Amino acid sequence: MDRFQHYIDGRFEDAAQGFDSIDPATGTPWARMPAASAEDVGRAVVAADRAFGTWAATTATARGKLLYRLADLVQEAAPRLAALETRDTGKIIRETSAQIAYVAEYYRYYAGLADKIEGAHLPIDKPDMEVWLRREPVGVVAAIVPWNSQLFLSAVKLGPALAAGCTVVLKASEDGPAPLLEFARLVDQAGFPAGVVNILTGGPEAGVALTTHPKVAHIAFTGGPETARHIVRASAENLAKTSLELGGKSPFIVFDDADLDSAANAQVAGIFAATGQSCVAGSRLLVQRSVKDAFLARLKAKAEAVAIGAPDAMETEVGPLCTARQRDRLHGLVTETLAAGAKLVTGGQMPQGAGFYYPPTILDCSDVPDAPSVRQELFGPVLSVVTFDTEAEALQLANDTAYGLASGVFTRSLTRAHRMIRGIRAGIVWVNTYRAVSPIAPFGGHGLSGHGREGGLAAALDYTTVKTVWLRTSDDPIPDPFVMR
Ligand code: NAD
Repeated sequence: MDRFQHYIDGRFEDAAQGFDSIDPATGTPWARMPAASAEDVGRAVVAADRAFGTWAATTATARGKLLYRLADLVQEAAPRLAALETRDTGKIIRETSAQIAYVAEYYRYYAGLADKIEGAHLPIDKPDMEVWLRREPVGVVAAIVPWNSQLFLSAVKLGPALAAGCTVVLKASEDGPAPLLEFARLVDQAGFPAGVVNILTGGPEAGVALTTHPKVAHIAFTGGPETARHIVRASAENLAKTSLELGGKSPFIVFDDADLDSAANAQVAGIFAATGQSCVAGSRLLVQRSVKDAFLARLKAKAEAVAIGAPDAMETEVGPLCTARQRDRLHGLVTETLAAGAKLVTGGQMPQGAGFYYPPTILDCSDVPDAPSVRQELFGPVLSVVTFDTEAEALQLANDTAYGLASGVFTRSLTRAHRMIRGIRAGIVWVNTYRAVSPIAPFGGHGLSGHGREGGLAAALDYTTVKTVWLRTSDDPIPDPFVMR
């Protein structure tokens, strides 16, 4: 079996405990992973804290240059990293190859931003004072990511945090950590000083040790809302700032004037890409009644034509889910939804054989709009369909969710598109497109989808704090101390 190591304080090391990583395509162990203990996590945070002073004092331009170097290394290593992510998480090679190549662009974006994080000078209301604001890094960042798209989800944390001058302890998910542990080799090769980036893996024990550590200043978390609740409680210990990128139950709204072929392609990508394991999955189709049959017929044909197979084959379009646990939960919710009265359009059968496969599934929930699959995030290739008649009803259904991450609107009417953009409560609205992302554009949600934004300039500012500097310009002695000026 392959073996992976932690990267702590500039050194690769084994852990006292370990666990087997399972290949989702076969259901068999393929690699031995280190499991971080609370002590390992503590050493990583102390290393990051020690490195912080020097890293924060390094010029922003020099930090940017290291990030550019890292971006080049990620680009060069993309095929290797993609193969590892595919092996360890089951995400198909077509997607991991394209996504990791694009991850390099995130590091480039933040490399360029490093020396553009500026303070400000204030036109203060006192003649003998100069007052300005310094933007300073917050300190040690605890970055925690789930198993899907780990390189991408860590780039949107590491890029801005390192550009701003923070140091990082990154905890890879215990499911499929191989690509991040391998990525540590690129960090080392790029020449970041010891302790600036530390990468380890482990389960909740390591997560708790990290999020409660007194030297952690910011917790950047991507994962599920239940874990986020633990993390927010944990942050009561160190009062660390939190940014939370959680799940979604994003509405994909199709009006009767939409280009149905185009919308069907976007919907298929929106729910079956990444085998549905995408936080922005358009998992709730809201379709206008007059085009429902025509649209569902298109979707059914496309879903049934999807190439399901080994994730490392270039022709595969839907691979296995990452874990057996994830597949069992998903199938349980599909079964409950059907029992509640939803109609099966396609899929829904647990396949026989090795690997954690699940077929693209469509459930018509028009008669049961409160069914479990309409309300809960399934995180798999399952689409729930609800019908509407009017624009007002579409908007009401779109916002009838505890989540608020993404949304899609398909219409040819410009005025209706604008009304929907204004009315939808979500962090992202895609109009006549779906699932587009860029390092330049902020990404995030509200409600059960979390808070804070990743991507864009604001994300880098999120890792800074403002220091207000007062400098008295007068040479006269300070007057009466009992009158504030
Ligand atoms: P999860 O919440 O179970 O785990 C995420 C991470 O948290 C893992 O690294 C895990 O080890 C760690 N963790 C678990 N318990 C912890 C604790 N008590 N303290 C600290 N850390 C702890 O999520 P998952 O099931 O691996 O991933 C799926 C979820 O992630 C879905 O809800 C999905 O929507 C969400 N997600 C969101 C985004 C986004 O950007 N909004 C992107 C991808 C995934």
